Amino acid sequence: MSLSPERTVAELRELQELTGDESGAQRVAWTETWERARRFLRERATATGAVEEIDEAGNQWFTLAGDSERALLLGGHMDSVPSGGWLDGCLNVLAAVEVLRRVAAEGTPPLTVRVVSWADEEGARFGRSLFGSSAAGGSMADQDELRARRDADGIALPDALAEHGVDLDRALGARRQLADAAAYLELHIEQGPVLESLDLPLGVVLGTFGVERHLVTWRGQAAHAGSTPMDQRRDALAGAASLELELRAIAAEVGGGAVCTSGGVVCKPGIVTSVVETAEQLLDQRHLDAAKLARLLELARVASERFAREEDIDVEWERIWSIEPIPFDERLIALADEAVVEVAGASHRLPSGPLHDAAEVARAGIPTVMLFVQSLRGLSHTKLEDTKEEHLELSVRALDRLTTKALEAFA
Ligand SMILES: [Zn+2]
Repeated sequence: MSLSPERTVAELRELQELTGDESGAQRVAWTETWERARRFLRERATATGAVEEIDEAGNQWFTLAGDSERALLLGGHMDSVPSGGWLDGCLNVLAAVEVLRRVAAEGTPPLTVRVVSWADEEGARFGRSLFGSSAAGGSMADQDELRARRDADGIALPDALAEHGVDLDRALGARRQLADAAAYLELHIEQGPVLESLDLPLGVVLGTFGVERHLVTWRGQAAHAGSTPMDQRRDALAGAASLELELRAIAAEVGGGAVCTSGGVVCKPGIVTSVVETAEQLLDQRHLDAAKLARLLELARVASERFAREEDIDVEWERIWSIEPIPFDERLIALADEAVVEVAGASHRLPSGPLHDAAEVARAGIPTVMLFVQSLRGLSHTKLEDTKEEHLELSVRALDRLTTKALEAFA
């Protein structure tokens, strides 16, 4: 059976008919509609001769045995957000099934090939994203926190999972699924505007951004706006304002796609007749390179201390949240670039803002890469999510080429 990208598009339309309504896709994980989508996948994937297994975290695997037990993994997720789009997640899985058909028709592959539909990527019902992939990757740590989660109807997470055959206490057993993994490939819609703005159908993802988020609190002295001379003020807002403008120079100095944002400043007392006593400033810094992310943070801290001295005010930093950058595999990035150029004529390398299941697999030490296909208007998580059919077909071809290259490279 030769590759038929048109069939993937037809199956995506069929799945949307089966599991969506006038508001969009309704394949929320741990629901009957999600099970319907999983049955749809099962019928198609097992027809290739691949064997199905559902692991302890509810991930659905289809395994086509190869000459070696080491496995090339192709993944995505069948679940959607409520009233979501027709492509997010399921494009990856159904494109992977199409690749599986082609590989199976050519005989025994050099590596075992496995397609995985990760359970509950979106976290739409319980607010916990990447459930299945974090169980398999090993970063799922706090079972007590998960046990306490409830959905909008008050149903506890462990009870909802049990209805779908998953025992939360055994979910980490899914880790054995990655034991023989040689590499992991994931195709996804971009969910952003970059490829469309470059007029390119496909791109290669370098990894997911590391993020540092801080609350920077500046403390000066409230004083009357009329009676306090300009050179005798201790104005907290002056510190925040100076730092906000300095961020441009800091991002430029570090370079390499660095982005820094001061997303808000709250001033107290916040009245027109007073110098600002406290300014609470939100800061978000991102980079794909951990050392450069650390440098961004260091430069901002040093600058803040200088501004505090100059303005005779105090400054204090508090970390709100952070995650390390998760770079993808350089060898696979090069192969993915080749595959994209072969099917589309040109490629582009870009980082991913959102996290994906691929980030969990990469964090577990498995060589990983993602392909992005252009999203129209950069929209996703809405029924307006769309990609041109010709681009969807190219994306299936690119995943197929990449699979062939990875099977050769990792055999
Ligand atoms: Zn997704």
